[in-house]
Amino acid sequence: MNPAQKILQRVFGYTDFRSPQDEIIQTVIGGGDALVLMPTGGGKSLCYQVPALVRPGCAVVVSPLIALMHDQVNALQQLGVRAAFLNSTLGPGETRAIEDALRAGALDLLYVAPERLVQARTLALLEQVPVALFAIDEAHCVSQWGHDFRADYLQLGILHERFAGIPRIALTATADQRTREEICQRLALTEARQFVASFDRPNIRYRIALKHNARQQLLRFLKEERAGDAGIVYCMSRRRVEETAVWLSEQGFTALPYHAGLDAQARADHQSRFLREESVIMVATVAFGMGIDKPDVRFVAHLDMPKTVEAYYQETGRAGRDGGAADAWMIYGLQDVIKLRQMMTSSAGGEAHKRAEQHRLNAMLGLCEITTCRRQALLAYFGETLPRPCGNCDNCLEPVDTWNGTEAARMALSAAYRTGQRFGVNHLVDLLRGASTDKINAFDHQRLPTYGVGKHLDAQQWRSVFRQLVARGYLNVDLSGYGALQLAPSCRPLLRGEAQIELRRETVRKTAKQHTRTPLSSDVDVALWEALRERRRELAEGQGVPPYVIFHDRTVQEMCIQLPRDLPQFARLTGVGERKLEKYGPTFLRVINEYVRSAE
Ligand code: ADP
Ligand code: ZN
Repeated sequence: MNPAQKILQRVFGYTDFRSPQDEIIQTVIGGGDALVLMPTGGGKSLCYQVPALVRPGCAVVVSPLIALMHDQVNALQQLGVRAAFLNSTLGPGETRAIEDALRAGALDLLYVAPERLVQARTLALLEQVPVALFAIDEAHCVSQWGHDFRADYLQLGILHERFAGIPRIALTATADQRTREEICQRLALTEARQFVASFDRPNIRYRIALKHNARQQLLRFLKEERAGDAGIVYCMSRRRVEETAVWLSEQGFTALPYHAGLDAQARADHQSRFLREESVIMVATVAFGMGIDKPDVRFVAHLDMPKTVEAYYQETGRAGRDGGAADAWMIYGLQDVIKLRQMMTSSAGGEAHKRAEQHRLNAMLGLCEITTCRRQALLAYFGETLPRPCGNCDNCLEPVDTWNGTEAARMALSAAYRTGQRFGVNHLVDLLRGASTDKINAFDHQRLPTYGVGKHLDAQQWRSVFRQLVARGYLNVDLSGYGALQLAPSCRPLLRGEAQIELRRETVRKTAKQHTRTPLSSDVDVALWEALRERRRELAEGQGVPPYVIFHDRTVQEMCIQLPRDLPQFARLTGVGERKLEKYGPTFLRVINEYVRSAE
């Protein structure tokens, strides 16, 4: 066994590295630089934590979120690793103590906020001690195009000059080529070896449905499939976050709002409750999530459509980091598309930038509308091939019906054309269905040949036709304000009868069957599971840490299945290293033994 494997087993309690952790770790231990692209939950932390323990000196980890350093350091200390952090939350005395420990060689890992690291004082301090490596977490924060941009990250290129010869490892879950190039260039990592892990998250079940009654749909999902689970509900606006959180609370859930408009204290409180308590639902804008490494988030629900596939993947990736079954659930409608397109036209940035954004939004729409495996489409978007349909997305589990929508599409397009391309979807649907509204009367639209030709479809079906035409680029939405639908050049073949179109048939999907609601497998006794979780809760509360810092659900679940009777058996559980064995083994064994005795 090599030193890295020994540390993996002894300290972390894991048996094997996941690919490509091993290669990354060997590269860094050997003194080489690395750029690591791995999905959320892929296991990035070990890529620098293991080399930190193998190489002489202290590893310096740059991490953008001060609020989370505390938990990361706590988790390492639980494993018996000598870790600390330096950031603005520390008083002068505490700072000095950590600096002294660093000089005395008593630290294996030091987490530092980027703005702190680039201060002359910190750089001078680090020059006095042996540094094992620099790890730059959430490295996409150097990208000025991304929404996580942090100006302080731009200065991290300095590490290359000031600490030549010390390996640097940059890590991110943002995979696109442009961000990757930006990271290499700005962090002076052009020579670094690049590692791209598979972006597949097989334990996440992807589901995307049409929005018809958002609240009821969400409620049903939460009650029938995710009762008692922790999760995140994403909404586009602050107001919607507030309203949804209040409403969910009225329905009996513990739901907390999170958005950039809340004061810092409230945000910190809500985040901390989400991490420390079980069964909390965070209702949030995209302001929430980066760096949140709560492993037992069981679902991510989107009440509005994200702007890009990248954002969707990053947000949904926050579910199920512990490898247990998790849901990525989303509902969307035509209004989402119109709103997002409007936001884009009014956003700053040049034409090229807007075109790129438009392109990304279309890819997101495409993902919503496809009738084949969602995971295959997602991975293809990131340049990866999944040879077979996944069997764990809505389209795989309940194949979608399509229908020949050519004639309906032609009617819809001609309704838009005949009314001068000045009307939105509601009016066009009224027109096709032959309704008699004030607007129809005011514009004398009864006289048009398309008036009333579409009575064979109901309003919902017509909206679906329009939405799919917009999503596929046959119709554009006029973004100057009212969402008028206009014909795109690509619709000509359809109108001339030279092309056919298959549309998806919208049915209200039943909830997915055979769903594993909790991470529990069937041969786990609920009483023992609850008793062990209760013990975990007491221990966590006593130390002011989240329960998963003591043991992950997965480890607790293994306890229930393996029923270890003594310390050597306990040591074989996943996630039980030397320190946790010594610290927690006896107390959990007592719970298990009591249970076994009472069952005999
Ligand atoms: P990321 O930072 O990439 O989102 P983490 O480093 O938080 O992911 O790891 C995700 C989860 O996977 C953690 O619970 C971690 O302990 C676990 N993990 C990582 N590597 C391994 C491994 N080789 N064996 C078992 N569990 C692992
Ligand atoms: Zn699938």
